[in-house]
Amino acid sequence: MCKGHLHTLAPGNKDLPGASATYAVGGMATHWTCATPRPHPDEMPKDLPYSDDEAEWDRRYSFCEKLIGTNQSPFDDLVGQQIVKHALNEAIPEREIKGLPLAVHVDQGKYPHYPHLHWSGCDTIMGSSWSDPRLTLRSDTHVRKIVHDDKKASYAVCENLVTGEKILVRAKYFVVACGAILSPQLLHVSGLGNENNGRYLTDHPVAFTQVVLAEKHLDWARQNSAFDGRLPDDSDPIPIPADEPDPQLYTPYTNQHPWHTQIHREAFQYGTIGDRADQRTVIHLRWYGKQDPQRDNRVIFDNKKLDMWGMPSPSFQCKLSGGDQERGEKIFADMLKFAEALGPYLPGSEPHWRPYGQALHACGTTRLGSDPATSVLDPYCRVHGYNNVFVGGNNVIPTSNSVNPTLTSMVYAVLGVEKLIEESGWGTKTAKL
Ligand SMILES: Cc1cc2nc3c(=O)[nH]c(=O)nc-3n(C[C@H](O)[C@H](O)[C@H](O)COP(=O)(O)OP(=O)(O)OC[C@H]3O[C@@H](n4cnc5c(N)ncnc54)[C@H](O)[C@@H]3O)c2cc1C
Repeated sequence: MCKGHLHTLAPGNKDLPGASATYAVGGMATHWTCATPRPHPDEMPKDLPYSDDEAEWDRRYSFCEKLIGTNQSPFDDLVGQQIVKHALNEAIPEREIKGLPLAVHVDQGKYPHYPHLHWSGCDTIMGSSWSDPRLTLRSDTHVRKIVHDDKKASYAVCENLVTGEKILVRAKYFVVACGAILSPQLLHVSGLGNENNGRYLTDHPVAFTQVVLAEKHLDWARQNSAFDGRLPDDSDPIPIPADEPDPQLYTPYTNQHPWHTQIHREAFQYGTIGDRADQRTVIHLRWYGKQDPQRDNRVIFDNKKLDMWGMPSPSFQCKLSGGDQERGEKIFADMLKFAEALGPYLPGSEPHWRPYGQALHACGTTRLGSDPATSVLDPYCRVHGYNNVFVGGNNVIPTSNSVNPTLTSMVYAVLGVEKLIEESGWGTKTAKL
């Protein structure tokens, strides 16, 4: 499908103004940040048949980290990263400062301080499967509806958006993976999913600021013999090699500080600094809160008002709970403490909350669970009552979590795939997990 990257879904919507979808082969992973931390045990579901099996969770997370190529702290050796880490360790010794786990392959190649970075995307996961003759990728093609009867889906009605050609795809199993807002949209137009479809929406409120590293931190690097031979020459006022990758750090979720953080430099458009400072000295602080799942927080599809592709258009009803707001105050204060340790605010980027939804971490809209009264999918990602319709994506995540969600939704996808393999009898001929 066309329409490119990050299309705002409900412009002007008050509750979730940042909600967006990507219409492109590869989805949001065409431009994601690749942060793939694991959630804290507090953020995991407690009421699923497999909830208590820590070894199984670990196996699935490890498998998905391997699949997406998570590198636990790829940039620890960088001068910029070490400056930030040292500054924070000095000022806030009680907090653990770590390299952010990133889905990136670092190839030192022939330029030791200018590594080649291969950021992971769908291509990383697909690997050589692209050339499997059993696979057909239809770009520019929209699934309009999944047709079903007797609790079984039988075919999907698709349309080529360029030629208008209608294509019917029959299958034994269907997997809906259209993103956190457009998956419930497809279920909605298809009459699949119960009254919880689109509900229990959560996202991450994001507190954000940019700071300029204080001169004393740069001096620490200038005076540190460990960096001999790595710093630019004296004519460069900034002691950070111009060609090294951006720093990527975080301080993990703990019981005392139950939120996720990113202390880094990011390519988001709202992080663009123009000529306000040398960008090597600018650090972005992004503090992600979690949102309590509430049934009334939801995406609503309007059958009379259609979106650009003729599907019921989404709007949002999504309020923060008292607990979310209380956490929000602590999150904001915590971010200010970190900012103070690093340096002054970049003018124009003083601390603020980003428009809600702009984290692009919407979750829960087709949440899984054991009880159909509070979920859309069974614990193995199947639409309740439909054993041949599976759903994937952040929309399946049932819990309130604060870390970047993609690794976790991959874990649930693996659960679903394992169930599909088991039930279909296709066995290891099809996939080896
Ligand atoms: C700038 C940015 C940074 C991010 N950084 C991170 C990060 O660091 N860590 C993290 O965990 N997550 C991050 N995310 C979120 C992450 O990219 C998503 O969680 C992930 O890509 C979701 O994958 P998905 O396949 O479920 O959905 P999507 O990526 O949304 O893909 C859905 C696909 O379905 C297609 N589609 C929709 N409807 C239909 C239909 N009816 N018929 C046919 N096709 C359809 C769309 O065209 C799209 O290709 C980021 C996202 C962005 C945009």
